[in-house]
Amino acid sequence: MTLSDGDAASNGLPASLYARTLHQFDSLHAADRLLYIPHTTTKRPSKTFPTAYQLAPHLAYKPVLPADAPERRSNAGAKSNPFADPDPAFTIPFNSETHTLMLNKFPVYRPALLLVTKEYRPQYSALDANDVRASWDLLSELKSDSSRTSESTAPQWLAFYNCGAEAGSSQGHKHVQVMPLPDSTEIGFEPFPSAASSITEIAESIYSVPFAHFALKLPSGCGFEEVVNAHVRLLTRMREFVTHKGWKMREAGCEAPHNVLLTRGWICIVPRRHSGAERWAMANALGMLGVIWITDDSQIADFTDRKGGVDGHMQFLGWPR
Ligand code: AMP
Repeated sequence: MTLSDGDAASNGLPASLYARTLHQFDSLHAADRLLYIPHTTTKRPSKTFPTAYQLAPHLAYKPVLPADAPERRSNAGAKSNPFADPDPAFTIPFNSETHTLMLNKFPVYRPALLLVTKEYRPQYSALDANDVRASWDLLSELKSDSSRTSESTAPQWLAFYNCGAEAGSSQGHKHVQVMPLPDSTEIGFEPFPSAASSITEIAESIYSVPFAHFALKLPSGCGFEEVVNAHVRLLTRMREFVTHKGWKMREAGCEAPHNVLLTRGWICIVPRRHSGAERWAMANALGMLGVIWITDDSQIADFTDRKGGVDGHMQFLGWPR
């Protein structure tokens, strides 16, 4: 990567957040402290729901808390919470009163970032205005940084949130993930929420996506307040949908499981019923875009070769629309 002249800071570290992030990623990787092997992608085109399987064997080392682990409810006496006191080698200076920015230790993309709440909040709670603001600030800073680099392949960015164990989260302390948006040439399709064409009317039937989804286009150059409003509108619609399906929030004692996906151009919420662990075919937020991370190529069949095919499995993970 070549950086613009203004990117060389006096301490020898790159000045832009994007370049600093890559620098820190590469240093931790070289020291074997961050596990990363560039993934390979197998495309599976479809007229209804295209998928792309990204092989990342090192994900087998990623810790996954059981769905009923105490760390998912509170930090009191937590034995396993990598985000309670983040390793300084993984943290990256970022201007936020509420969130710490750190590198993901088991990334599939370079770089992969985590915005973790400074105070413990459970991952089964919906994003609040502070979470959305920190995510939007980070996306905005990364966008302006990457457009200043002369790297021709400067990525677009994606923030995503796996709310609850059924939505594919592996840790219980609230965190949003941020990584390059998968490239449509590499995966063979455009992420479906990019087809949301209205900033006011919620899109609920994009293409033939087989599961319930709620998406809004975001106006170009909008501020975080508009993104917070869009998120609240989608969350309200999602709650209405799952309540109609029989979900009882008060009995469950937590937010309805769902994924949030956010770029500078659109925001989408996907309600979830199952993580897929019970079928050995799991998906997080990215999986609900059709980008599925696997640790062995044999796992592709767990999605494609079952009764109902990929579409049936995606409906099992989410809700039929
Ligand atoms: P999720 O699966 O959405 O709950 O995201 C949790 C993320 O935290 C996963 O992508 C893990 O790779 C990452 N992770 C787990 N342990 C650590 C750690 N000690 N330091 C940094 N990232 C971690």
